[in-house]
Amino acid sequence: MTGSLLPSIWLGAFDCAEQWNRARETQQVPTARRLGGAIDDRVLWSRHPMTLDAWCAGCQAVQPIQVDWHFGSVGTDGSVHPAWSETAVCKGCGLNSRMRALLDRVQHLALAEQTQVFVAESITASYRQLERRFPRLLGSEFLGADHEPGKSYWNERYQQEIRHEDLTRLSFEDGRFDLVITQDIFEHIPDFVRAFAECRRILRSGGHLVFTVPFRPGLAATEVRARFDANGVLEHLLPPEYHGDPIGDGGVLCFQRFGWDMLDRLREVGFAKAQAHLYWGPWQGHFGFPFFVFQASCAP
Ligand SMILES: [Zn+2]
Repeated sequence: MTGSLLPSIWLGAFDCAEQWNRARETQQVPTARRLGGAIDDRVLWSRHPMTLDAWCAGCQAVQPIQVDWHFGSVGTDGSVHPAWSETAVCKGCGLNSRMRALLDRVQHLALAEQTQVFVAESITASYRQLERRFPRLLGSEFLGADHEPGKSYWNERYQQEIRHEDLTRLSFEDGRFDLVITQDIFEHIPDFVRAFAECRRILRSGGHLVFTVPFRPGLAATEVRARFDANGVLEHLLPPEYHGDPIGDGGVLCFQRFGWDMLDRLREVGFAKAQAHLYWGPWQGHFGFPFFVFQASCAP
């Protein structure tokens, strides 16, 4: 026998808002949402932290998955739920739901161990999981605009050299990698289109960019929350929202929450295909609906 006895967590892939809306109208999405919501609600027998057993794509084993209520909120339908993508943390490897989903997506690509992979992080639990799969993995962190892309700097907190890269001006030559991975980074880059173009530039033919970002499937157009004006002055269009930063002490500003036009921007910078991959599956500790991992692929 080949393959897993567990079903895939990938429910479908969408190219654009029209496809998503069509799926909503034809009951495909409402059915998945209703079944998913019903199961999620049964799981929430109390609004306390809890542990569930699930298959972890990181550990490749059944592990206890910890659910907590940090950033929990009330949905548009009035249901109270944890921030599902940020919680459901595997006690074995430390990856939360969205990180485990991204890893599962990467494993779906079935790439060789010697594949050249760049991931825009290097001191994280995800980095360690990716390194196990791709020994030639190259990672970096954004250490600040006053650092030189491609150079490594000693970090006191982590007691290690950390390579600095800026996704809007990467130090790598064209076509260097087969796979580029970023997790919740593009929302912190005002010129995210330039970052998309840089990721495309360092990928070779047939290469893939796999990433997560805060995404609003109800938005056709990306919601710009902050930007730099013509004089380079930061301007807040919506109340500032800060996310955690493993390197700095403060948070990092969220410049935008993405809508479906993000996929158009990816195609415009030269990716042949760009899709939002919808996932859900309690057997792998993925609750909440709808959440996506994004994949943009270069022509072979
Ligand atoms: Zn794990």
